[in-house]
Amino acid sequence: MNQQYSSLLLEKAVSEFAKLPGIGKKTAMRLVLHLLRQDTATVEAFGNSVITLKREVKYCKVCHNISDTDVCQICANTQRDSSTVCVVENIRDVMVVEATQQYKGLYHVLGGVISPMDGVGPGDLQIESLINRVKDGGVKEIILALSTTMEGDTTNFYLYRKLEKSGVKLSIIARGVSIGDELEYTDEITLGRSIVNRTAFNGTV
Ligand SMILES: [Zn+2]
Repeated sequence: MNQQYSSLLLEKAVSEFAKLPGIGKKTAMRLVLHLLRQDTATVEAFGNSVITLKREVKYCKVCHNISDTDVCQICANTQRDSSTVCVVENIRDVMVVEATQQYKGLYHVLGGVISPMDGVGPGDLQIESLINRVKDGGVKEIILALSTTMEGDTTNFYLYRKLEKSGVKLSIIARGVSIGDELEYTDEITLGRSIVNRTAFNGTV
């Protein structure tokens, strides 16, 4: 046991919290002590929500967005334009684009971008299922809304090569999103404008 802890249970809880992104040891300790001050029911509700989330969460079989049902609410919504599919890296990006209220099409969550440095290749991403969605018909336009990083550009180009002969219109969000920006840090107005002012994508940016 680490000298600073008088309880192994406390040490264990702090080290679990400290595994979360952006949480250092000090913050982890503060959170754990905060939980300790709550009544048992509150702490159990907290713990159970995490366990239930992990056990029961589903991913939409069409777009791979997080969902409580086999097909997510966005894909199931007949008011939305199912001929337009916005390709994003992760489920946070779906929320970010939704927050702009500028987009009424559907999504496709890749689960990341191609990054040879991190050992992420096309096969690790939901690219095959995107191509199948296009093959199945009904999709007229694919909007590429990936981060404006080298990995994002590599992925855009890969998708372009895979889809250029499919007849689907390929477009890319306008670069009001500055170079190197991750989508989730872009403000809603800028991102909303970037989607509305998207441009045709011909493999180069
Ligand atoms: Zn979906």
